[in-house]
Amino acid sequence: LNNYTKSPFFLGILSINLGVRSLITGDMTIYYFIPSIPWELLVRVEYFTVVIGISVFVLYQYNLFKEHFNKTVLYIVLGVTGIYTAVILFSSAYFFTSILDYYLIINGIFILYALIVNIQAIIYKNESAWGFMVAFIILMVSYINDTLNAMEIITTGYFSSIGILAFIGIQAVTLSAKLTGAFRTVEKQNFELTIHREKLEEHVKIRTEELEKANTRLKKMTVIDALTQIPNRRRFDEYIDTEWARLKRVKQPMSLVLCDIDYFKKYNDNYGHQQGDDCLEQVAQALKNSVKRPGDLVARYGGEEFCSVLPNTPTEGAEKIAEEMRKNIQSLKIPHEKSDVSEFVSISVGVAEMTPADNNKAAELIELADKSLYSAKDSGRNCVICLSGD
Ligand code: GH3
Ligand code: MG
Ligand code: MG
Repeated sequence: LNNYTKSPFFLGILSINLGVRSLITGDMTIYYFIPSIPWELLVRVEYFTVVIGISVFVLYQYNLFKEHFNKTVLYIVLGVTGIYTAVILFSSAYFFTSILDYYLIINGIFILYALIVNIQAIIYKNESAWGFMVAFIILMVSYINDTLNAMEIITTGYFSSIGILAFIGIQAVTLSAKLTGAFRTVEKQNFELTIHREKLEEHVKIRTEELEKANTRLKKMTVIDALTQIPNRRRFDEYIDTEWARLKRVKQPMSLVLCDIDYFKKYNDNYGHQQGDDCLEQVAQALKNSVKRPGDLVARYGGEEFCSVLPNTPTEGAEKIAEEMRKNIQSLKIPHEKSDVSEFVSISVGVAEMTPADNNKAAELIELADKSLYSAKDSGRNCVICLSGD
């Protein structure tokens, strides 16, 4: 594409040059507009259009086929152009008209070189080179015709004006086709790039979502007990601390319920470890379903022990829930023939209550709940014991 961006500019100059030439040669239309124009100035301008025509033509070819065009040749062309321009400007009309033939012979070599470059471009599969070549040949033939005509070798008439017109016309069409094609390619690539970028963004989005999901899953794994699928000890520790701090600010009580399955060692020994696990799962679900408020947390405290944090709950409410829990476990009717207190699996429940303040700690509440659980075991199991720390 780079090769073609300057080409329309050169083609434009060639067209203007052609226009100027037709104004001052042949019918000499210029006299119609400026009757007083000096004859010598007109000759200088006419010769100047020859110089412009040839050198811009070579520059044009150079721009089209840069890969094949020798830069030194280009500099020589520009040098010769410069010298002859100076001659036209500063010498007499008699002198510069008499040396035109030499100038044309030298430039004939350059034009031949441009032709070779064009052929080379065709060989190297430059798709547009054919169009340029056809225009080139038409121009050459018209010039050769005119030269032979001028030398009176043939009498076909003069065709170079038509030749130049055809040349510029074909070049313009070829060039615009080439540029349109190039722009279309750029547009297509741009479109493909946009699609590609959108796909990439979509891909990144999906990946990020997957990662976020995996992250959430991992995070959950660290706070959920693998066997019972309820919060684990770590979650309980976290939760009781944050709730303790919050309740301290609002001066509201917290209750803690500790449950322990009665004679669970015997259960395991009798029914096997696998059934012991199943029992733990059922108990966990039943305990979880025994609390109703969103702030209530039921967690596996460890082994066959479960706990429940009940924020904003005084002893009476906590005792009710504890009793509900005990009953719900009994209602599961999981046979436990080796139990000394019931034919089904049962729990002992210890409840403790405290209002968080500056002079107490969550650890004290846990200790107190532990104490009540111990007394529940002591007073015959399958029962609820409450203690208040306030
Ligand atoms: P008590 O009524 O005094 O609480 O008697 P217990 O047998 O329940 O008390 P102990 O603490 O002596 O026994 C607890 C048993 O719980 C020990 C172990 O066999 C069982 N256990 C603890 N964790 C698990 C577990 O994850 N799966 C199973 N299957 N059993 C467990
Ligand atoms: Mg125990
Ligand atoms: Mg036990």
